[in-house]
Amino acid sequence: MCFWLVLFIISGVENIIKIARNFGRTLFRFIVQDDCHFCGGFVDEGERFFCAQCKAEIRMSLTQACCKKCGKEVSEYGITESEFGCGRCFGEEFAFDNISSAGVYQGHLREMILKFKLSDRTELLEPLSELFAMAFAQADFSEQIDYVAAVPMHWRKRFGRGYNPPQLIAKKICRSKSNIKLCNDIVRVRNTENQAGLTVAGRKRNVKGAFALRCGSDFSGKNVCLIDDVKTTGATLNECAKAFRQAGAEKVFAMVLAVAGQKGR
Ligand SMILES: [Zn+2]
Ligand SMILES: [Zn+2]
Repeated sequence: MCFWLVLFIISGVENIIKIARNFGRTLFRFIVQDDCHFCGGFVDEGERFFCAQCKAEIRMSLTQACCKKCGKEVSEYGITESEFGCGRCFGEEFAFDNISSAGVYQGHLREMILKFKLSDRTELLEPLSELFAMAFAQADFSEQIDYVAAVPMHWRKRFGRGYNPPQLIAKKICRSKSNIKLCNDIVRVRNTENQAGLTVAGRKRNVKGAFALRCGSDFSGKNVCLIDDVKTTGATLNECAKAFRQAGAEKVFAMVLAVAGQKGR
């Protein structure tokens, strides 16, 4: 009788401790932890920025088949060797070798990128860099990179905004990978019009010859990875890639947060 009474008291105390612990965790999350940047739900202990479910979905989307040439999602049966691309980019020529991205330019990811780029929400650098780093680690070419280079802004635009979003991400990647150097040698020599709203041909014309490398830059035999926030037609990345090729780069890859212009979106 005495034994059962003690057991009852112990299990009751255990339950009270469990309830108190859960309540404490919930209160702690409510006060201290961020909400998930995607769904607004609780971020689990040991995780940052995204809840476990959203993180799992992000990881799944990263493993989906994408064309290595244009970066767009394709069914696994639509993939061809990278030099030919997919049905959507067949016949198009890109100056970069392969491209990879953290996702599709839609929904929460699109919202986050727009806030980060246009609304001074620089606190979004951390979650976006985390997404970018996950995608970068999964890219086929990530182990071949010697330099990363952000697509540069014209100095006048940068002066107005105060920061270049892709440059902040590029710096983060270099901090986490000791074998990769940051390249600051590419310059936007013309203050180009905003690409949004231009036709495909207009975009190409707008950025043609707009990028150059600083005098004396030599990337002979080096592999460079261009970093940008969004790839739409690839015109900007193409022009940057050409500049690095002229400076002797062996391979030029591109890595972006999101690829836009996908079928049905
Ligand atoms: Zn979530
Ligand atoms: Zn393609």
